[in-house]
Amino acid sequence: MAIDQADTQPYHWLVDMLESVEVGLVVLDLEFRVQVWNGFMENHSGITASKIHNQVLFDLFPDIPKAWLTRKVDAVALLNTRAFTSWEQRPYLFRFRNTRPITGTEDYMFQNLTISPLSGSTGEVEKICLMVYDVTDIASGKRALEQANKQLARLSMTDRLTGLLNRGAWENLVGAEYERYRRYSQATSLVMFDIDFFKKVNDNYGHLTGDEVIKHAAATAKSNLRQSDSIGRYGGEEFGIILPETDAEGSRIICERIRQSIEHSIVNTTTAPVRYTVSIGIAQLSGSAKSYTKWMQQADEALYAAKKSGRNRVVVFE
Ligand code: GH3
Ligand code: MG
Ligand code: MG
Repeated sequence: MAIDQADTQPYHWLVDMLESVEVGLVVLDLEFRVQVWNGFMENHSGITASKIHNQVLFDLFPDIPKAWLTRKVDAVALLNTRAFTSWEQRPYLFRFRNTRPITGTEDYMFQNLTISPLSGSTGEVEKICLMVYDVTDIASGKRALEQANKQLARLSMTDRLTGLLNRGAWENLVGAEYERYRRYSQATSLVMFDIDFFKKVNDNYGHLTGDEVIKHAAATAKSNLRQSDSIGRYGGEEFGIILPETDAEGSRIICERIRQSIEHSIVNTTTAPVRYTVSIGIAQLSGSAKSYTKWMQQADEALYAAKKSGRNRVVVFE
């Protein structure tokens, strides 16, 4: 008797440990009937071990991807080897609510899953054990980091005042468009525009009002462009636009629309209603531009010509 007790004691401890460990333990027979359901599974599912015992898992959890799990379990039984699935492949197997206060940003518990074969005395696989690990903290940490990185990448390309591409990001795109042209030779045009007599706006109404006018110019130009066009803030009150698949004449029409739209606007700034105009230069890319910087120079030359010939106009580089 005393010997028996000494023998079974460690077994009870072990069962107690498995019952209370912070890992979900489920044992299934090969028909997916639940044989073991530990405390972790009871707590998170709200289903007691006695209620689920001998029930087919899929009957109580219709959300579980049946075909997927069956395929996995069959492979584990057949090969007598473990399988592992991380939350990055499949966020969870059991749709448990996330109850952690710190990681309250996630609605559901993220889970890693191990599927292990359990052999009987003959060595045949008789049962399958699922181990469910709560990795919500790791997952939400990683997702937050990814989110922050994306945000950072976006910010490093964005001009703060206007929300347009900043100079560096926009110039990169000009370079890329130039390379695309060299391969495919489709018509493509570059536009540079600059606000006329902007110093006067700053002098008359102050720098902050000037900023409001810059924002207005950015928004007006953008609203006249297509999704495929790229607009950037090149300098203080200078902007650049890439118009892919657009020749000089097509560009002139778009730019005229922008020019007139600005000319007819009254910007209701916090200090005063302000009217302003812009001058615009266009360069369609051709063999004469031996680099993308040369292409930009050509658009800039056209802009300069627009300024010189009286401002508030569109000039195409010849
Ligand atoms: P032009 O018609 O020849 O273009 O005359 P302009 O007065 O606009 O001359 P220019 O383009 O050289 O002037 C740019 C001015 O824009 C000079 C600078 O004080 C001002 N500026 C540059 N960046 C900013 C900015 O971010 N905000 C404001 N408010 N002003 C800026
Ligand atoms: Mg100017
Ligand atoms: Mg300028």
